[in-house]
Amino acid sequence: MTQFPVYLDHAATTPMRPEAYTAVTEHLLEVGNASSLHAPGRRARRVVEESREAVAAILGVRAGDVVFTSGGTEADNLAVLGLYRARRAEDQRRTRVLATAIEHHAVLDPVERLGEHEGADVRWLPVDGCGRLDLDALKSELAAAPETVALVTVMWANNEVGTIQPVAEVAALCAEYDVPLHSDAVQAVGTLPVDASTVDSLALSGHKLGGPVGVGALVVRRGLSPQPIVFGGGQERDLRSGTLDVPGVAGLAAALLASMGDLEVRAHHLRTLRDRLVAEVVESVEGVTRNGDPDDGLPGIAHLSFAGCEGDALLLLLDAAGIAVSRGSACSAGVPQPSHVLLAMGVEPLAARGSLRISLGHTSTGDDVDRLVEALPPAVARARRAGTGR
Ligand code: PLP
Repeated sequence: MTQFPVYLDHAATTPMRPEAYTAVTEHLLEVGNASSLHAPGRRARRVVEESREAVAAILGVRAGDVVFTSGGTEADNLAVLGLYRARRAEDQRRTRVLATAIEHHAVLDPVERLGEHEGADVRWLPVDGCGRLDLDALKSELAAAPETVALVTVMWANNEVGTIQPVAEVAALCAEYDVPLHSDAVQAVGTLPVDASTVDSLALSGHKLGGPVGVGALVVRRGLSPQPIVFGGGQERDLRSGTLDVPGVAGLAAALLASMGDLEVRAHHLRTLRDRLVAEVVESVEGVTRNGDPDDGLPGIAHLSFAGCEGDALLLLLDAAGIAVSRGSACSAGVPQPSHVLLAMGVEPLAARGSLRISLGHTSTGDDVDRLVEALPPAVARARRAGTGR
């Protein structure tokens, strides 16, 4: 197995847990379509249903609420597009979509498409300087005309800066106005205790929690019927057609189960490593700003801005030193863009461009932190000499 010397990009994808690897490989050589009626099909179905029950039990919902998908992106798309279309079909007045300005592109882009092509009136909800949703803004949008809101979408925890959102308060507001709430919990499930019954629909992804890539789930509460976005064999209660990935689903369930086993110990370990990392970087490099909520963020994420640097240059210099970190936000056609999350938090575009997301996970060690702390000062000095190319 190839292991990058220092891997600090767990929020992008985290190594597979041994339990998930065992579950996936155990089923890879077994034949059987979970929709077939014969014995191999029934065996495959049993694996899927046992996995569904395990996922549902961990998330505090009924097994029938769990719809397996190809990952977080598809789960978010199904929730956003499917709920909007279903709610609008029931009542044409429901055109408003309320979404935080810091959503992942898996939510952001379908919401934008609804605005551009399907008559949605999109309202981007502001966040504070830590990246936390402004609840008053949500309340006034809801109170203004609740009968026109198709859905609200608020992520559980942000993938760039790690800030945890006030989901319980948001859910209470949505319930008060009888509006469905979707939450992209891709970064939260497996890292935080998540009770999916708090919200009406919730997205999760296998490879973010130590399961395989290409499998995820949408949890949709009983009575809520998003319109499907993929059509075919009618699998997954007709919500998501396509032959089920039995090894993937078994791997997802095994990873989730394993991640529950060490949730608290891991969170404590990651927080300790992360806080040391931040303290030592701030100590050894001038002009560093920490982004996100220092008290209520994902335990493994440190998001830092380095004044006078281009984030990409810094990333590549660290990469050359054998350390994998992330910009946290995507390039557009190869051109570095300031992150929409940081801009929404009020960070200046130039400072936003000089930012890195360093994310720790279940395989991270103190040695990883030491190596990063050692490599950063010379890398920052070099990146600063290259400048921001303004
Ligand atoms: N939502 C969030 C918050 C994410 O961080 C990601 C992945 O980066 C996704 C959705 C997309 O998940 P997937 O990679 O499983 O499609």
